[in-house]
Amino acid sequence: MVQDATRRAAAEPALVGPQGLGMDSIAVRTRMVQKLAAQGIGDPAVLQAMGTVERHRFVDTALVNQAYEETSLPIGLGQTISKPNVVARMMELLRHGAAGKLGRVLEIGTGCGYQAAVLSLLATEVYSIERLRGLHDKARENLRPFRLANVHLLFGDGMAGFSKGAPYAAIVAAAGGDAIPQAWVDQLAVGGRLVAPMVTASGQQALVVVDKTARGLEQTVLEAVHFVPLKSGIA
Ligand code: SAH
Repeated sequence: MVQDATRRAAAEPALVGPQGLGMDSIAVRTRMVQKLAAQGIGDPAVLQAMGTVERHRFVDTALVNQAYEETSLPIGLGQTISKPNVVARMMELLRHGAAGKLGRVLEIGTGCGYQAAVLSLLATEVYSIERLRGLHDKARENLRPFRLANVHLLFGDGMAGFSKGAPYAAIVAAAGGDAIPQAWVDQLAVGGRLVAPMVTASGQQALVVVDKTARGLEQTVLEAVHFVPLKSGIA
């Protein structure tokens, strides 16, 4: 009997079960973090956060086995969760070597809430805004078991930012438009940094960093990316 059970267990795929990945998820996340480090993510705080947040809890049951793969995944309503490398890259850019935690951070595009959970480990307060009611509700549900007291989920049009939480030490957008909305720049603290996808002059979407310094704004255009479009209004 014992032998039978052992054999059956061994024959079963490691990544299934009613709890998603269960205990195995630590090993799978560790592998993901090793890959991120090999791809050039060097900030220990970012690697630690990526290794901590249970990404598989933010995707549909049918996609759980792919949760730690280097791929973007559908999260419903035509939206996607970015691949781990892109999330880590944006977090690293946001932190740009900060010694401790960031202060208040604004995220535009809560989606499934995954990146907000990662941010909760890297910032003192996270304000995350989503324009689609269905995803706002989903994120609330996904995040509930984590009991992250410093994450504030907001339903609304993130193009206007969230002035009540301003000024922000950092602003990150998970959706890209043709320009950086003025409200985001206005709500950024002096010394703060904004990271967002944006369609540049070439017609391609790229990651853009805006530093708000005492001397003014400094914009840097980085690598090409593929984010969902930034849309106005709520739905
Ligand atoms: N950070 C998310 C990624 C979600 S995809 C995650 O970890 O899952 C980007 C999200 O931006 C989508 O859910 C989309 O609805 C949202 N979005 C697009 N335009 C927006 C706007 N103006 N305000 C708020 N959210 C917006």
